[in-house]
Amino acid sequence: MNFNILKSTALFSLSFCSALFCQNFPVNEVLINGENYTHMNIVFLSEGFTKSEMGLFNQKVESTVRQIFKTQPYREYKNYFNVYSIEVASKESGSDHPGTAIDEPQGVSTFTRDTYFNSTFDGGRIHRLLLIKNYGAVHSVLQDNLPEWDIVFIIVNHSWLGGAGGAFAIFSLHSRSFDTAIHEVGHSFAHLADEYEGIAGGRTGHEAANATTETRRDFIKWNKWIHGSTPLPTPEIEDRYGNVIGLFEGAVYNPTGWYRPKYLCKMRQSLKPFCEVCIEQTILSIYNLLPTFESFEPFNQELTFSANANIDFVIHPMKPTPNTIQTDWYLNNELIAADTDSFHLRTAGYNDGKHSIKAVVTDKTHLVKNDPYTFLSGEVVWEIKIDSTRLANNDASELIKGFEFHQNFPNPVHNITTITFRLPISSTVRLQIYNAKGQIVQTLRNGQMLPGLHEISWRTNRVSQGVYFIRLLAGPFSKVKKCLVLDR
Ligand SMILES: [Zn+2]
Ligand SMILES: [Zn+2]
Repeated sequence: MNFNILKSTALFSLSFCSALFCQNFPVNEVLINGENYTHMNIVFLSEGFTKSEMGLFNQKVESTVRQIFKTQPYREYKNYFNVYSIEVASKESGSDHPGTAIDEPQGVSTFTRDTYFNSTFDGGRIHRLLLIKNYGAVHSVLQDNLPEWDIVFIIVNHSWLGGAGGAFAIFSLHSRSFDTAIHEVGHSFAHLADEYEGIAGGRTGHEAANATTETRRDFIKWNKWIHGSTPLPTPEIEDRYGNVIGLFEGAVYNPTGWYRPKYLCKMRQSLKPFCEVCIEQTILSIYNLLPTFESFEPFNQELTFSANANIDFVIHPMKPTPNTIQTDWYLNNELIAADTDSFHLRTAGYNDGKHSIKAVVTDKTHLVKNDPYTFLSGEVVWEIKIDSTRLANNDASELIKGFEFHQNFPNPVHNITTITFRLPISSTVRLQIYNAKGQIVQTLRNGQMLPGLHEISWRTNRVSQGVYFIRLLAGPFSKVKKCLVLDR
């Protein structure tokens, strides 16, 4: 995997909305393990909570987060996630119940509440189907407050059991509702199928990582998980085959002709753990979006050094628990160091000319047996040229080659000025304005940016006349420019 191809959401992370159209809500950092662009971002939204009920909402978030990270494989990959909650206050407390379900329980009242996302029970005329009617509002709250979201849970302030899946998982305060929500994330995030049978002839099945019509042992997609002695199809004898992976008949709404990997799994029955095949698929889905490492050094991957350079090559790997990540190093495609996060190169030992250094970072977890696209392995290659005619005192500047930071124009500034910089590769950028006392007065950019020339406007209407410093931090590069702001 190429490090520059990061999560596609990173492209949206720099959207800045103008004050007029922005709907900003309090965003709480519930769990932060790193930058948003190298982590999966779970977002909780409140629905049907008034301003004074946010304590209850945040309590529910905390208990839900504990539950998520007790569940395999979220437990092992907890460090890959950031969790945020966004306090979206509703005018009224609760949700709607129109009473239009075909399975309407006896003696429950109907009611409507004025809530932000307009949630309602009786979605699709099923009492427990708790839906959101204003999806547009969900999208704009996310876009304006946390555009890097990957998984969204909406907590509805009502005690009845209820929830729904789709792009966002919705669940109520009922103690069992969350388990349904994490099943729904199995669909939306890991593309898992339902492993239950449902009504005969009700719906057609579909192939998925955890559902198939294939019965020939060698062709079953999860056959690496099936022990040679397990009969196929596997009889539904729980005390004999309840804990093994096999081929159990009954899946994706069909009692016959469709098969699932395990007797029980969260995709079949709530409150059960995910089966091994669903766990594997969830990990593959994480690595489909994230590299196996957070960052590496040097940042530049094409470098020329003198014959007297000492360079540390460093990988900052992701950190599953227990740690199953291994980094191996190759010099000119020969293994030179195994299972270490850094490699030290002294150019004195090598001939002039081109050399390549490659770090291969692999998650060796036993929870994944099938990885056809090698999502669990990433590599970084540095092309090194050694040139003995080069002066050794140029070696340090080589490491920040390609970064440019120009004086803002115009300067002095009356109203607006343009700050220009160039990034040789995708970088984490922090562009900030400091006053003469060294205090940060404004942050213009904070996040991942693509390679290329960037022009950022700074409107000075929020600061008073005086001397200011513009500081650019981009990967290993750090520089300050002084500028003068004058009254309009
Ligand atoms: Zn389902
Ligand atoms: Zn499963």
